[in-house]
Amino acid sequence: MDLSNENVVHVKKNGIEYIQFKKLLEYEDILTHCFTLKPLDFGDNSNYEEKKDIVIKNYKTICNELNIDYKNIVRPYQTHTNNVKELGEDFGIFLDENKDIDGFITNKRNKILSLTYADCTPIYLFDPVKKAIGNIHSGWQGTVKKIAKKSIEKMIQVYNSNPENIICVIGPTIRRCHFEVEDDVKDIFLKEFEDIKDIITKGEIKESKQKYYIDTVKINKRMLMEMGICEENIIDCGICSVCNSELIHSYRKEGKTAGRNTALIMLK
Ligand SMILES: [Zn+2]
Repeated sequence: MDLSNENVVHVKKNGIEYIQFKKLLEYEDILTHCFTLKPLDFGDNSNYEEKKDIVIKNYKTICNELNIDYKNIVRPYQTHTNNVKELGEDFGIFLDENKDIDGFITNKRNKILSLTYADCTPIYLFDPVKKAIGNIHSGWQGTVKKIAKKSIEKMIQVYNSNPENIICVIGPTIRRCHFEVEDDVKDIFLKEFEDIKDIITKGEIKESKQKYYIDTVKINKRMLMEMGICEENIIDCGICSVCNSELIHSYRKEGKTAGRNTALIMLK
């Protein structure tokens, strides 16, 4: 199985697999990034103590592969908020000061932003002019709370970024094909977003419940464009995490025991 496509390079090396995005590889001299694949698992907030040894081992493995130092990993407690934080001086895994953070931005070098995903949408941000990066966890709840919009506002405010320069990469995520919801979730989206008719598709009725399919990637793209990001600078990897759950941890497919993939991005 190979996830390579016009925007994606699938790397298989030394027994591990990960993907990288061609657009970000253009800046390889100042930027390192990846999205890990199975079997690497980075655990979650709730099972970190239990999985700590394996998680640290996996960080070491992927960081070795990318030639970066795992000690520079910074990872927040993600709780589906829309809180985007500029990285402070402290870094590490699950520090108290990084609770309830679902997006990091930084212009510091050698700090590895690591957020983890199992179906939620990873958004990588890179401003090559101001040399600033971001890693944004936009699950469906984060999407409703417009974390993508908030992260761009924050880059403008903190780094004086011009949105026209910012490159956004949308990583593997649950897509319309698998994001099946019922009236309760559909209504939340309808309430929050106008002009969303092309984003919600009516599905079948199952067990007397009407199902719908929602395209959260399209919502995020639209949100980014409303913030002034150029369409050609929004790169969608096009990969559905549920369709490709052989290689990608998927909550929808695997439930509570699902592992986590990590998206990493670092300025060299
Ligand atoms: Zn799918």
